[in-house]
Amino acid sequence: MDFALSTEEQELQAGARAFAAVIAEDSMERDATHEFPRALLQEAARLGYWGLGIPKQFGGLGLNMLEQCLVLEEFARADASLHVTLSVHNSLACGPIIRWGSLAQQQEWLPNMAAGHTLGAYALTEPSSGSDAAALRTRATRDGSGWLVNGTKLWITTGVSAETFIVFARTNPELPKTKGISAFIVSGDAAGFTRGKPENKLGIRSSETVQLFFEDVRLPIDALLGEENSGFSYAMATLDGGRIGIATQAVGLAQAALDAAVATLKVHASAKGCAFTSQQADFTLADMAVRTTAARLLVWRAARLRDAGQPHTPEASMAKLFASEAANKNCRDAVALLGGAAYTGGLAERLLRDARVTEIYEGTSEVQRMLVARSLRGS
Ligand SMILES: Cc1cc2nc3c(=O)[nH]c(=O)nc-3n(C[C@H](O)[C@H](O)[C@H](O)COP(=O)(O)OP(=O)(O)OC[C@H]3O[C@@H](n4cnc5c(N)ncnc54)[C@H](O)[C@@H]3O)c2cc1C
Repeated sequence: MDFALSTEEQELQAGARAFAAVIAEDSMERDATHEFPRALLQEAARLGYWGLGIPKQFGGLGLNMLEQCLVLEEFARADASLHVTLSVHNSLACGPIIRWGSLAQQQEWLPNMAAGHTLGAYALTEPSSGSDAAALRTRATRDGSGWLVNGTKLWITTGVSAETFIVFARTNPELPKTKGISAFIVSGDAAGFTRGKPENKLGIRSSETVQLFFEDVRLPIDALLGEENSGFSYAMATLDGGRIGIATQAVGLAQAALDAAVATLKVHASAKGCAFTSQQADFTLADMAVRTTAARLLVWRAARLRDAGQPHTPEASMAKLFASEAANKNCRDAVALLGGAAYTGGLAERLLRDARVTEIYEGTSEVQRMLVARSLRGS
C-alpha cells in the first residue's frame, strides 16, 4: 500500500493546519473556562469542515476517509475538544444519513449540517449500557402514524448544542438483543426531548457531554433511518468510521505532546545547556516520534481500506487501540521530560488530561482488543 500523499492531499492538510493555528490560539483559555467554541465552529463551517464527507450535491466537501483523517489530525493537534465536536458531527451524525438515509432524508438534513446550521450528535450509550451497547433500554413503539420514544441517553457529545441526533432505540424486544434495535433521526426541538447539564470532565473540557431525556417524544414515521430493526448493525458500522476519527484525535494528541517536548527542551538546551543533549531525553523523543508515526500509518491504512469499500473492522480497532495508547504514553513522557513545570499547568498537562478519553469512548481499549481477537478467531 502506497502511503505517499498526493499534491491535493498535501494542500488539504496545509489548509487544515492553517485553520488549526487559529484553533490553537485560545485553546488553553477554553480548557480553563469550558467554553464551547461557537464562533470558531462557525468559521469551521465557512471553510467546509462541517461537511467533510457530505457529497458535494448536498453542500459538503465530499472528502474520502483518508482526506478526512488528514484534516481531523490537524484539529486534534491544536485542540482535542474542537476535534471531537467535528469528528462526531462528521463521522457519527452525518455518516449514517449519508450511508442509510433515503434521498428525502438526505435532502432534508445534510444541507443544513454542511452549512453550519445544525450540529449533529450520536446517542447510543445509556446509564445501563456502555461497552455492551446492545443492552440499551430506550424504547420506540409504533404510535398511530409515527413513533413514540422513551428513555435516557448518557454522555452524549455536543448534546447541548446539537440539533440533529442519531438515536438508537429498541423497536422489538422479542428479537435477540442485537436484532431488535432501530436508528432514528431526531430533531433537537422535538416535544418531550430535553438535555441535561454538561458533565465536568477530566479533559476535552470545551466539548459538551450530557444526558438526553426522551419522554413520550413523538417522531414522524420517516424519522426511521434505514430498515426497522437493523439499527445495531448501523451503529457498529458507523463506529468503524468513528473509531478512525477518534484515532486521528489520538495521533494529533501524540504529535502535539512530541511538539511540546521538543519545543521546550530546545529552550532548556539554550538556557541550561544540557537537557536536550542528554541521551535519555533523546531516546524518549525518538520513541515518541516512532509511536506517533506508527499510529498515523495504522490510521491511514484503516482509512484506505474503508475508502476501497473493503472490510476494516479489525483495522479500525487496531488503529484506535494503538493510537490512543501512543497518545497517552507520549503525553506521560512529555510531562516526565518537562517535570514539575508541566505538572503544574501548561499545554503538556492539558494534553495528558485530554488524551485519557481516547482509550474510553467509541469502545474502550478492552473492546478494541476483543474485536481484533474476534477477527483473528473468525468468530
Ligand atoms: C467524554 C465522553 C464522550 C462520550 N460521547 C458519547 C457519544 O457522543 N455518544 C455515545 O453514544 N456515547 C458516548 N460516550 C460513551 C462511551 O462510548 C462509553 O463510555 C464507552 O463505550 C464505555 O462504556 P462505559 O463508560 O459504560 O464503560 P463500561 O462498559 O462500564 O466499562 C467499564 C470498564 O470495564 C471494561 N469492560 C467492559 N466490558 C468488558 C468485557 N466484556 N471484557 C473486558 N472488559 C470489559 C471496559 O473496557 C472498561 O474498562 C462518551 C463517553 C465519554 C466519557
